[in-house]
Amino acid sequence: MCDEDNRNTGLATRAVHGSTTRDAHGSPYTPIYNTTTFAFESTADLLDVIDGKRRGALYTRYGLNPTIFALEETLAGLEGAEAAWAFCSGMAAEAALFLTHGRQGIVCIGEAYGGTLELLGAQLPQLGIRTHFLLDSELDQLEALLDDGVRLVFLETPSNPTLALLDIRAIAERAHARGALVAVDNTFASPVNQRPLELGADIVMHSATKYLGGHSDLTAGALMGSKALLAPVWDWRKNLGSMIAPETAALLSRSLRTLVVRVRQHNASAQAVAEAMARHPRVARVFYPGLPSFVGHDLARRQMHGFGGMLTLEVRGSGADATRVADRLRLFALAPSLGGAESLVTQPCTTTHHGISAQERARRGISDAMLRLSVGLEDTADLLADLEQALS
Ligand code: PLP
Repeated sequence: MCDEDNRNTGLATRAVHGSTTRDAHGSPYTPIYNTTTFAFESTADLLDVIDGKRRGALYTRYGLNPTIFALEETLAGLEGAEAAWAFCSGMAAEAALFLTHGRQGIVCIGEAYGGTLELLGAQLPQLGIRTHFLLDSELDQLEALLDDGVRLVFLETPSNPTLALLDIRAIAERAHARGALVAVDNTFASPVNQRPLELGADIVMHSATKYLGGHSDLTAGALMGSKALLAPVWDWRKNLGSMIAPETAALLSRSLRTLVVRVRQHNASAQAVAEAMARHPRVARVFYPGLPSFVGHDLARRQMHGFGGMLTLEVRGSGADATRVADRLRLFALAPSLGGAESLVTQPCTTTHHGISAQERARRGISDAMLRLSVGLEDTADLLADLEQALS
């Protein structure tokens, strides 16, 4: 399928047919070119690729490898982007984004993944990059920071672990009015449930380790956006050496073919689990964008196409009670990741937010009795039975 045809198809079709490169034997998908370098017929031919006159395979660390080209075409199609770059991890994608577009200052709005907060709070300032953090309740300070020269707004929505939502369109309008770019970590939602570029964001970032990979068996990252904004990221990725390996690229391409059906099932099961937990006498609160009682529900209906597979519940009782529930779950494995076929549970105060003081957790609305669930692809009835036995 040619690029142009592909762009006009639905998301599931793009997920299956995103890759346009076929080999000489007619393989329907691009094979794994597990090679570091590629040979040329002549120096003139080699120079055409080096000088960018034609896209060709050259050297895998540069991303100039057919298996990586195929993956990137699919990734771009899924977010409705002109271009995509693949990386060896979500953090590698973020680092390249910040080093390219964040050198004049970055403001991170709302909650974000712990590694993001550490990179922004501890490492980038060592390079002289100014970084700022605004909670949703402090958004009135955004214009002052942008007027002071900050050029990149970074946000994650829904975010970890309270599933709090941010209004991408409203933030993009405010940032663009001051000449700043907006990048969104779309890991929790996946492009099936939310496409930030359609809402006005400039760049989308993914930890492809999660829903895009979908099987807890690969580590990868991605950036999607316009050719103009992604072009300067290329050199940072190349020289930081943060390229995805061809075998991982092929595995991720394989996973993307089922992304849409997987995410729809995650959504349906998480909605059922959220509704059951909201009625459970041992559960004080459920945080899930698909519940009409959830504070961000109206915004979720406006900017999301599905409510996702992640939810957080607050057990009635103490942090120790929540720990007991987590330890008693059998189908939900106690592991700090998300987006795989298997269901996972984490207690934020013992994992993702363990390094943050109890006071700061409270300021961010994160209680010790919270359990974050990544609802997998098992039968929903079995997941509900597992939660029931652990809570009882
Ligand atoms: N963004 C989010 C929302 C995440 O959950 C994670 C990892 O958990 C990352 C970024 C970092 O991704 P990776 O582990 O692939 O580097």
